[in-house]
Amino acid sequence: MVPLIVSLNTFRKIQLFDREYYALDLTHKLNPNIPTWNASCGFESETVLDYEMSGVLVKKYKCHAGIGTHMDAPSHFFNDGLNIAQIPLEKLIVPVCKIDVSPRAHSDYMLSKQDIVNYEKHYGSIKPNTLIVADTGWSSRWSDSDSYRNEDDKGNMHFPGYSPECASYLLDLDIVGIGIDTLSPDGSDKTFPVHKLLLGSSKYIIENLTNLADLPPTGAFIIALPLKIQDGAESAIRALALIPK
Ligand SMILES: [Zn+2]
Repeated sequence: MVPLIVSLNTFRKIQLFDREYYALDLTHKLNPNIPTWNASCGFESETVLDYEMSGVLVKKYKCHAGIGTHMDAPSHFFNDGLNIAQIPLEKLIVPVCKIDVSPRAHSDYMLSKQDIVNYEKHYGSIKPNTLIVADTGWSSRWSDSDSYRNEDDKGNMHFPGYSPECASYLLDLDIVGIGIDTLSPDGSDKTFPVHKLLLGSSKYIIENLTNLADLPPTGAFIIALPLKIQDGAESAIRALALIPK
């Protein structure tokens, strides 16, 4: 399928042997001002050596493991769950289905089972081993941490997520995981039912995706690779979609 090229900045043409693809970066850039779960500094970068002193630039980074566009492994919530280094490659390079709820996603919007059923009516049934991503339009707030975290007077954050009913329906379809363009697929629910459902079923979660508006609803596949950190529960990822030309 040929996607509508709306932005040459986000799509890059990739030639792999005799096949051409459009590559779409779904990853936010890391810097000290990015939105974080607890509003702390997201990403500290220290210069250890520089060109003037040593003829070389060496940096040291300090951040939480679940920073920026990142993946939660089952061990994030479950002691006996797969850790981030154990998620097999065949689960990280998979077809991706995009559910677009951006026209109606207010700050407490939770994707419903009906959103998925409607998607399947239009684009066909969702196959096993597929990643589901929700485009809620929230990533447009990324550069403004306060707006992205969207705290109310009581300090509770508000942003779109998935309803537990929707997550259960997706698990019945044997998906590989879910992704979203907010801080959490649970929205403001701090009991984390969707995290528990997904991670408890050996699936993974990707948070803080971007550029989903440019991703076609179907026909693309995703490469989402966490750092291979021993016993890690979360990791920043570089996530990209490849769309066959
Ligand atoms: Zn999470």
